[in-house]
Amino acid sequence: MNFHVMTLFPEMIRQAMGESITGRAIREGYISLDVVNIRDFAENKHNRVDDYPYGGGAGMVMQAGPVYSCYQSVCEGIRKEQGGDSGRKVRVIYLTPQGKVFHQGMAQELAQEEELVFLCGHYEGIDERVLEKIVTDPVSIGDYVLTGGELPALVMMDAISRLVPGVLNNDLSAETESFSGSLLEYPQYTRPEEWMGEKVPPVLLSGHHKNIAAWYREQSILRTARLRPDLLEKAELTPEEREWVKGQ
Ligand code: SAM
Repeated sequence: MNFHVMTLFPEMIRQAMGESITGRAIREGYISLDVVNIRDFAENKHNRVDDYPYGGGAGMVMQAGPVYSCYQSVCEGIRKEQGGDSGRKVRVIYLTPQGKVFHQGMAQELAQEEELVFLCGHYEGIDERVLEKIVTDPVSIGDYVLTGGELPALVMMDAISRLVPGVLNNDLSAETESFSGSLLEYPQYTRPEEWMGEKVPPVLLSGHHKNIAAWYREQSILRTARLRPDLLEKAELTPEEREWVKGQ
C-alpha cells in the first residue's frame, strides 16, 4: 500500500505516521508514505496558496492552481514508480465534512488499493473547480468540523494500514475486532488475575478453548446490544442468539 498525502502541514503527517505500528510498517516496507507540500506549488513569490472567497464570506480558500500542480506531481511520481501509465485512475480522497462518513467497511475496501492519494484541505476549504477535476472519493470522519484534513487523513491511513497483510503482528486481531461482522469486540483482560478485588472471568483461565470462544461470542453480542443496538440489527446472529439477547 502506497499512501500519498497532499497537505500544507507535511510534518504533522510524517510525525504521526512515523510512530508505533504504522512507523514499523513503513520501515519494514509493508506500506510507504509520500508526503507532498502543496505550498511547494505556490504560484507567487510569497508562497501563498490561499485567497479570499468570491462572493465574500468568512475565511480563506485554497487556490485551485497549486493543488492541481501538486496532484500532477504526485501522479507523475506514481507513473514513474510503476514504470509507465497503468491506465487506472488513482483514487483521490478529499477529506471533507461533506463526504461520505468513514467506516470499517470503507477501510477494508480501500485497503485493496495499491495507491491512495489523500488531499487535506485547510482554512475554509479548496476551490471547487479543482475538486471537481481530481477527487474520486469525498470522505468525512464524522459530523463535526476540524481545522484541517490532516487528522482525518491520519485516521483513515491508520485504519487502512492495520488491514494491510503483515502490518499487524497477528493478522487475526483485525478479524475479531469491533465492527468485523457488525459486532463489538468482547472485553479483554491481562495480568494480574486480581486487581482491586476484581477477578478475571474464570472461563478465561480455564484453558477450555470451546468455552472461551462461546464466552467471547456471548460477550460480543451483549456488549453490542448495550452500547450499539443499531449495529445489532444488521449483525449475523442465529435465531437462537436473537431470542437469547432479547431476554438479557
Ligand atoms: N467550510 C468547510 C465546510 O463547511 O464544509 C469546512 C472547512 S474545514 C474548516 C477545513 C478543512 O478541514 C476541510 O477542507 C477538510 O479538509 C477538513 N475537515 C474538517 N472537518 C472534517 C471532517 N469531519 N472530516 C474530514 N475532513 C474534515
